[in-house]
Order: sequence, then structure tokens, then C-alpha cells
Amino acid sequence: MTNPLGSGRIAGEGTDLAFTDPLTGLGNLRRFFDKVDRLIVERADDPAPFAVGILDLDGFKPINDLFGRRAGDDILQQVAMRLRASMDPHSTVARVGADEFAFLCPLVFSEEAARERALMLIEILSAPYDVGDRTARLSASAGCSLFYSGEERTETLVSKAETALYHAKRSGRGKVVVYTREMEEAAKRTTRLEQALRRAVAAGEVEPHFQPIVDLKSRRIIGFETLARWSDRDLGFVPPDVFIPLAEERGIIGPLAQLVLRKATETARHWPDELFLSFNLSPSQLVDQNTAQQVLAILERTGFDPRRLEIEITESGLMTDPASAEKIVDDLRAFGIRVSLDDFGTGQSSLGRLRDFHFDKLKIDRAFVSSILDDKPSEHIIRAILAMCEGLGMEVVAEGIEEEAQARRLIQFGCGGGQGYLFGKPRDADATMGYLRDAYLATAVRRTA
Ligand code: C2E
Ligand code: MG
Ligand code: MG
Repeated sequence: MTNPLGSGRIAGEGTDLAFTDPLTGLGNLRRFFDKVDRLIVERADDPAPFAVGILDLDGFKPINDLFGRRAGDDILQQVAMRLRASMDPHSTVARVGADEFAFLCPLVFSEEAARERALMLIEILSAPYDVGDRTARLSASAGCSLFYSGEERTETLVSKAETALYHAKRSGRGKVVVYTREMEEAAKRTTRLEQALRRAVAAGEVEPHFQPIVDLKSRRIIGFETLARWSDRDLGFVPPDVFIPLAEERGIIGPLAQLVLRKATETARHWPDELFLSFNLSPSQLVDQNTAQQVLAILERTGFDPRRLEIEITESGLMTDPASAEKIVDDLRAFGIRVSLDDFGTGQSSLGRLRDFHFDKLKIDRAFVSSILDDKPSEHIIRAILAMCEGLGMEVVAEGIEEEAQARRLIQFGCGGGQGYLFGKPRDADATMGYLRDAYLATAVRRTA
């Protein structure tokens, strides 16, 4: 076998194979660890720090899907070639994962210098790649850590660089983060939270709360949105804005959603038939082809009529893999489940998406509703959304209505549905039943009066 990088080393040679990545000819994870181990020994009596970094290609998977696997391999070889060419004679680069590369820079002594070096590598990788007669562009993110003391081990250095990489990835594409102590604290807190959440989901301790959605004109309740609530014994109340994204990241969202949907439909089954239940689906559930089947299995088990269920999805949920999301939505819709577009106006709010993807309902984000009374642009935007929904045959619910005057203004503009603290905060199953009893009693009294 010839080495694709033509470095002269034969990858098939005995022990070398165990240390070489066959695709790129670079060293592999073992070689990298070995090099760092040796440098740590060398620096035992030398106070000079050094840097390690992990570089991860952003969005490599879509490129692989788009251009094909062969082209993907070709790009990885070009990436390897560029990285190798940009190393100084003392530095090393290795391929340590599918689209992950690690570098070791013995002569980088400070965090600033590590950041600059990583930025330079990212810059080098951002130039276009030739793929047959087409070109592809890539960006990369990097996390770095510095060796300061002889007590540090290779595993911890690399794991710190990974933590830094994680922070870099979270802050967007093409970013470099150098590891800090605070990051370690934050990582520990997140791990504690993750463990507590895993335990809570297994023990069935995440509860659905329900917030009423009303017909604005008559104030009649038309349905409820399910909102997950979690209070941990030790950590106390953890808001969904914190635990839902965590559950997504750590792969707990599937079991969590199933638990909440099961409990929610068990409760909603006892409500009057005309009320719908809406349920939020997370972006990662829209790339998982088991989602539709899981939702339907729960409805089957709890005996909840699918025609009474609505799922709420956000635009970001559709963006990762629109074809997958569409398939899931089609599967659900075939059983009569309705689909609404949540938080409209805050994300991309792409009109193309509204044309290509059929939604039954659109929910106007709270940000517009809260400024409707004193901000002309918000007013114009809401009116435009309402006109558009009317043309497209979509129902509308305005979210986050807190004041009577906001509700009145929305009615005046022709908005049909409303949700917000003005009509009711999210409540647990029992309180919701009480709320429903009061509301239905009041209607009956009005009718007989
Ligand atoms: P969302 O789906 O947009 O839900 C509406 C959020 O607005 C809820 O926040 C609700 O409590 C809050 N809200 C409703 N009316 C008002 C109001 O008048 N004023 C103000 N200030 N807030 C109002 P919450 O419960 O904290 O949930 C936050 C987000 O977490 C939800 O946003 C949703 O994206 C997500 N989430 C909650 N439960 C679940 C769940 O079971 N599954 C998934 N995937 N996501 C969930
Ligand atoms: Mg929602
Ligand atoms: Mg919303």
C-alpha cells in the first residue's frame, strides 16, 4: 500500500501500522498519546510549558453526504496534507477521530500563542477543496490546553483540550477556545446535572405542566401546551431552558420526551374531548427516525386520540436535516396529528420554509407580543404574519400575552389564538383539572344566566 501523502513511510510496516491512520498517513491517537507522554517525561525538569490542541471539522458530515464518501475521504486527505505542511519541525499532527485531528506544539509556551497557532490552522483549512470538478469549503473549531506542571498526565491534557473544543463548538463555527479552570468547574456542574437528570428520567420524576391556549375573542380554552418541569432533590428546580438543551446534547431527550408525553396524554385523556394537547419536539428528535413510531406507540398505549395532539417544532429543528424532519412530520400527520411552527419570528423565519413545509398553525414568539403596544415595527411584523397565515390557511397563536391591552390589540389585528400568563401559567395535572372545572362551570353559568 502506498502512503497517500507520499511521505515515503510505508503504512503497512509492522508496528508502524498500529500507530498510523491508514487513510491520511498521519499518526493516530496512539501515536499522539505516545508523543505527548514522551514530551511530558522530557519536560520533567524543565519549566517550559507546551500546548496540545484538538481540531474538529465543522459540518463535515453534510459534505460527506452531499459529495459521497470517496470525496469525503479525499477531503480528509487534503486536510491532513495541509495540516502536516503547516507544522514546524518540532510539532506533530495526528488524526484522532473521523474528522478530528490533534496537534502537539512543544514550542508554544502561552495560551495566546496556542490560540494564534490554532487560528492559523483553521485559516489554512478554510481555503476551498477540490472535489472532482467541484469545490467544497470547510471550517474547523479547536480546543487547546497547556502543560504547566510535571504532575499533569496526557489523558488530562487531552481531556482539557476536548472540554475547550466543546466550548468552541458551542459558540459557533471556526472558533478557538483555550482551556481555563472555570471551564473545568462548569464541566463538572454539567456532569452533575446530567447524572441527576438521567436518574430523574429513569425514576419518572420529570412532570408535565400544562399552560392554557385560548380563543382570544371568546376566551374559551381550546387546548394546553405541555411544558416539562423538573425539581431535583439536591439541585432544586431546574428550568427547562437548562435541562432540555442538556438532554439534547447528552442523548437523554428521547427517554425524557417519552416520559413526559406518556404522563401528559394520560392526564389529557380525562379532559373534555374538544381540547387539544400540544407537545414540543426537540431538534434532535427530528433527525431520529424512531420518533414518529415512539410517539404513536405512546398514544396507542395511553389511548389518546392522535387527532387531539399537536406537535410544536421550531425552525432550528427543521434545519439540521429537513428531509428527515419532513418524513417524521408526514408519518405523524398521517395519523391526524397536527403540526405547529413554534417561536416564529426569532429564528430564521424563512418564508421559503413556510412555502415548502405545511404547518397547521404558527405561534408568534413572545418577543413580538411583549412589545406590540409600544413598538411600531413589532406591530407591523405581527400584522404581516397574520395576513400571511390567513393566506396560507394557518391558524395563529400569539405567545406570552401578559396584559389585557395586548390581547385586545391582537384581536383587533385578527389574531385567533392566545397563550400567556394573562390566561394562565403552566400548572400541574391536578391544578389544571381544577382550572378546567372552574372554566367549564363559569361557561355553564353564563349559558344558563
Ligand atoms: P416554548 O415551547 O416556546 O414554551 C413557551 C414558554 O414561554 C414556556 O417557558 C412558558 O412557561 C413561557 N411563557 C408562557 N406564557 C408566558 C408569559 O405570558 N410570559 C412569560 N414571560 N413567559 C411565558 P418554559 O416552560 O420555561 O419552557 C421554555 C422552553 O423549553 C419551551 O419554549 C420549549 O422550547 C422548551 N420545553 C419545555 N418543555 C419541553 C418538552 O417537554 N420538550 C421539549 N422538547 N422542549 C420543552
Ligand atoms: Mg412550545
Ligand atoms: Mg414557543
